[in-house]
Amino acid sequence: MKCIILGSTGYHPSASRQTASYFLPEIGVAFDAGTGFYRLGDYLRTSRLDIFLTHAHLDHVAGLTYLSDVLRTRPDCEVSVYGESDKLQAVERHLFAEPLFPVAPNCRFIPIPETILLPSGGRLRWHPLRHRGGAIGFRADWTDGRSFAYISDTVALDEPAFIDFIRGVKLLLHDAYFPDAFQEKAQRTGHSTPSQVAQLAQKANVGRCVLIHTDPLLTDEAIYQRDAMGLEQAKRIFSALEVGRDFQELDF
Ligand SMILES: [Zn+2]
Ligand SMILES: [Zn+2]
Repeated sequence: MKCIILGSTGYHPSASRQTASYFLPEIGVAFDAGTGFYRLGDYLRTSRLDIFLTHAHLDHVAGLTYLSDVLRTRPDCEVSVYGESDKLQAVERHLFAEPLFPVAPNCRFIPIPETILLPSGGRLRWHPLRHRGGAIGFRADWTDGRSFAYISDTVALDEPAFIDFIRGVKLLLHDAYFPDAFQEKAQRTGHSTPSQVAQLAQKANVGRCVLIHTDPLLTDEAIYQRDAMGLEQAKRIFSALEVGRDFQELDF
């Protein structure tokens, strides 16, 4: 199965990166709908689209207002948006308030149950994260052993219950907004750093870990050529670590 990164950054878009949006095109499942969500239309080929929201900060939901463009080739696609009730209410009441965006969303908002069965027979679960206003992280498992986790936004949760939640997952996407030197700031703003995430991945025996929601002020050149995120250092803790980029396709 494939996960396409439609937006790998957080807070605001940059020249080369859009905000949080991830898509599993084979089963029509999306995680978050930040500004990168407008790109989903190019990959949509199912008659159903299920969107799972970590929380309702604008960099994760602004793209819900792009839905009519996303559905341009599939106007009959049935869209459901899942999340915690208070986050869904905030989106419905505020993002789609007449003065902000006057077109009613053509989707259903559904408070997230404890477990969700995915179209392909996968099972999706969620776990509370630590972030201002609250957020949840997701994990999906299939009977054939494939597994995937999407954890954003949060401080690095070095706690047994969370380590168990991501244990053994084949592909982990995890928030790493700041480099290690900004650990205090990461803690204060509800985000993680590469070495902290590497430690979690190592403890939980994860297969492959991709850092996401990285600082939009860092250019691609800074991240991938000058290693501004300090990836080499973090890879000493967990070697199967990389920084995700927009349009990257991850197989799991
Ligand atoms: Zn964010
Ligand atoms: Zn946030």
